[in-house]
Amino acid sequence: MALRHLAGRVWLFPGDPDPSAVRPTVAVVADDRGSVIVDAGQSPAHAREVRAALAAAGLPEPRWLVYTHHHWDHVWGACAWPGVEIVGHESAVGLLRAEAARPWSHDYLDEQVRANPRLGPSFQARARAVDSWDGFAILPPTRTFTDEVTLPTGVRVRHVGGRHAPDSSVVLVADSGVMLLGDCWYPPPLHLRGPDDGPDLAMARGLLEHGHQWYVSSHSDPLTLAEADAALAG
Ligand SMILES: [Zn+2]
Repeated sequence: MALRHLAGRVWLFPGDPDPSAVRPTVAVVADDRGSVIVDAGQSPAHAREVRAALAAAGLPEPRWLVYTHHHWDHVWGACAWPGVEIVGHESAVGLLRAEAARPWSHDYLDEQVRANPRLGPSFQARARAVDSWDGFAILPPTRTFTDEVTLPTGVRVRHVGGRHAPDSSVVLVADSGVMLLGDCWYPPPLHLRGPDDGPDLAMARGLLEHGHQWYVSSHSDPLTLAEADAALAG
């Protein structure tokens, strides 16, 4: 798998179209001052694939890793990105410290699914994603923000919250006309979802008002503004 150029300095390592793989898109904002990686990948193996693609494309080394939110498939690859500063919303710190303290193993994943079958799709995907727990660690952000932060390369990260995850943040690369949405407008995760929970279309409409050329959600193909507008109108 190779990096795909989206626009300006934004590149995408496309996610797996099979939803059961729970493998989101990882974005790279290339810059000679240090690239910004947006989301870590769902496993060290996934992160290593992105790193190899980055090297093959000849893009500058990453200096910052931004978490769009704390869910496993966006952060479990972090321990395979050495030497980066991890940027995330302040509310992700406690959430990820708690996740880091759990005794992750294949046995633990099995036990958790037996105790709560609604965890099955997520925890079985984690078991497939991580073949070895040696050296595995969940890393909370080391640079946090409350409302918004601008990184030295001009990449802005803005907290939007919402019901999918309290720490959801979007990444704006204005010079490239790209907004990276993570999962911010998606419904709550399956095991927390109620019968009336759907996508947050009001949030999605609000984000489109920024008028960027490209909108990138983590688990689907990137959409142009016109395509996103049409999807919301339909
Ligand atoms: Zn998520």
